[in-house]
Amino acid sequence: MMIRSRFAPSPTGRMHLGSLRTALLVWLDARARGGKFILRMEDLDQQREIKGAADQILEDLHWLGLDWDEGPDIGGPFAPYKQSERFGFYKEEAEKLLARGLLYPCVCTRRDIELATVAPAAGDEGPPYPGTCYGKSPEDLGGKKAALRFHVKPGKITFTDRVFGKISQEVSEEIGDFVVVRKDAAAAYQLAVVLDDIAMEITDVVRGADLLSSTPRQILLYEALEKKIPAYAHVPLMLAANGEKFSKRERSVHVGSLREAGWKREKLVGWLAWTAGVTSRLEPVQPKDLVKGFSLEKIKKEDARVDVGMLIGT
Ligand code: GLU
Repeated sequence: MMIRSRFAPSPTGRMHLGSLRTALLVWLDARARGGKFILRMEDLDQQREIKGAADQILEDLHWLGLDWDEGPDIGGPFAPYKQSERFGFYKEEAEKLLARGLLYPCVCTRRDIELATVAPAAGDEGPPYPGTCYGKSPEDLGGKKAALRFHVKPGKITFTDRVFGKISQEVSEEIGDFVVVRKDAAAAYQLAVVLDDIAMEITDVVRGADLLSSTPRQILLYEALEKKIPAYAHVPLMLAANGEKFSKRERSVHVGSLREAGWKREKLVGWLAWTAGVTSRLEPVQPKDLVKGFSLEKIKKEDARVDVGMLIGT
């Protein structure tokens, strides 16, 4: 079967070095296995979108030397490749799940409803949802605007990650029933990503390790939709020197800062590959020269810590 893998950035700012490294690893894995590489713009949350960021992401990826077979700029058999143009599809699919009794309305005013369009990073998630609205009648809910939650039955979800090995989560206890449609009717990240990966016939999901804890929820949705679960690989993150997550808002970690500081593409690719353990020597290289012999299973399993100030000489 043809491997179809994707990189799915959210246009909430310019790409930082960590997301650039993830993109490189996803691309290398797809190309090394003769697969297709698909780009999907995850602009679900239009309030968090930064104007021009989507185009800038494509520009930065091109600059790095990556190419894609399908994407928002070139189209493809599963277009559109922008989530903001797929809202009608999410709505129809959510209605089907609701009609099957797998979702229920929730009127709680919790932060997880508000944040549902954002892919959650580890530690960002609040306490498990206690099921307050489960089993309530429309009268109990008093006609208030409701979000929709997916009801999680007890039982461990286990999968084998290509990088991290066996992962298990008891979603019913650790997360609880989770939001798939927000109160303003926007699809949540967890639902949109699964529906799109199914519709785009994605066989391999390769992404940052911050999304490891979302995977069991997504597997539950695949099971509910009776679709084949893709192979998963989560790649370690790149963190700031103090161990904190990079944020797209910090200018210092934008790829633009390195470009302005005179970094050439080969130097950056060489450095990204070296920090991930793809190469053992730090030397300039083009992405295409790393394809032969690349194996995602062999990358470092630890997050990389970098002092970006040192990189750009500030
Ligand atoms: N759009 C998500 C993000 O930028 C990634 C989604 C995914 O790869 O599943 O964090």
